[in-house]
Amino acid sequence: MNSPSTDALMWVTERPDLIFVEGRGSWITDHRGKRYLDFVQGWAVNCLGHCPPQIAAALAQQAATLINPSPAFFNEPAARLAQLLVEHSCFDRVFFANSGAEANEGAIKLARKWGQQRRSGAFEIITFENGFHGRTLATMSASGKPGWDRLFAPQVAGFPKARLNAIDSVAALIGRDTVAVMLEPVQGEAGAIPATAEFLRALRELTTRHGLLLIADEVQTGMGRTGRLFAYQHAGIEPDIMTLGKGIGGGVPLAALLAREEVCCFAAGDQGGTYNGNPLMAAVGIAVLETLLAPGFLQEVAAKGDFLAAGLRALSEEFGLGDERGAGLLRALRLADERAPALVEAGRKLAAEGLLLNAPRPNVLRFMPALTVSRDEIGRMLEMLRRLLAAP
Ligand SMILES: *Cc1c(COP(=O)(O)O)cnc(C)c1O
Repeated sequence: MNSPSTDALMWVTERPDLIFVEGRGSWITDHRGKRYLDFVQGWAVNCLGHCPPQIAAALAQQAATLINPSPAFFNEPAARLAQLLVEHSCFDRVFFANSGAEANEGAIKLARKWGQQRRSGAFEIITFENGFHGRTLATMSASGKPGWDRLFAPQVAGFPKARLNAIDSVAALIGRDTVAVMLEPVQGEAGAIPATAEFLRALRELTTRHGLLLIADEVQTGMGRTGRLFAYQHAGIEPDIMTLGKGIGGGVPLAALLAREEVCCFAAGDQGGTYNGNPLMAAVGIAVLETLLAPGFLQEVAAKGDFLAAGLRALSEEFGLGDERGAGLLRALRLADERAPALVEAGRKLAAEGLLLNAPRPNVLRFMPALTVSRDEIGRMLEMLRRLLAAP
């Protein structure tokens, strides 16, 4: 098959010289017909794998019914998805967005507006070193990725950085201007580093005591990724605001900002967007959420996460690697050296069938398979990884 030239695409990152043409479940096929076992899944986005029939059906059906009446009017899928999300979380209201960064922008705006109304103009949101919240100016400023403080300077002000799992480092930053604390329950881009349950509980206690909002960025950890519908549930806490992205759309652009009633303070015109809450994407969100809520689905995610973790620990022991960490089907393996990018490339280039992995750090491999991945496919990935690790 002839592939088009990619020269007209703006360069933003190094990409391998191949074009993907189709996918099914945990497998994706390139333009030469080579198959790859996919443990990246669109960056933890395709929670039901590639082209699941329920998403294809939801898209086809909704596309033939109503695509976008404009955000100035209600539509049934958005109302229904919002209803489902509040029924299954501790939140009361939902605003839909098109990307995780946009949902986080909304969370930041909501917290600042609340600060203007309720905390005499407090606007600072404490975030964390190595955190990741997106690529808009404000969410890059909220992120704690090394080097990002100088990219696109000047930053958006008001995001002092604390250290994850160090409650004193948060307490030390609280001042007159503080309005909220925002974190990922498991730092995804940093390499699947979990906030401990004790830390999350201490954070909830600290923010409540100071009258601050707690914002959970569950763009990566939400929608079943950690074995519960939302990662905050593991710690038994209730945040005031949560954002969702990635998995909620199962591969299509859908994200959400959820908040408790007493925090919902937007006035008319404060927040919106042309595509926000469009029925085409909301219909997909319903199909995804209904799948996750089916009896036994999330228990299976947790069990397969344990299975993957055990396999990674065995490889770590066999090859003298570092620790294995994460939650559910968001896991990472620390290597003893900086081979991660080379292993990712070697996996892609494996003869016959390739393997797609991600290296969020030079010494860390990250695993984010479809939540529908089979034990068989996890076993196959571990065997392929074993071959890669054993190669000189
Ligand atoms: C991916 C991610 C985002 C950004 O989502 P986009 O859809 O890429 O804008 C924000 N927060 C976290 C925790 C993420 O993993």
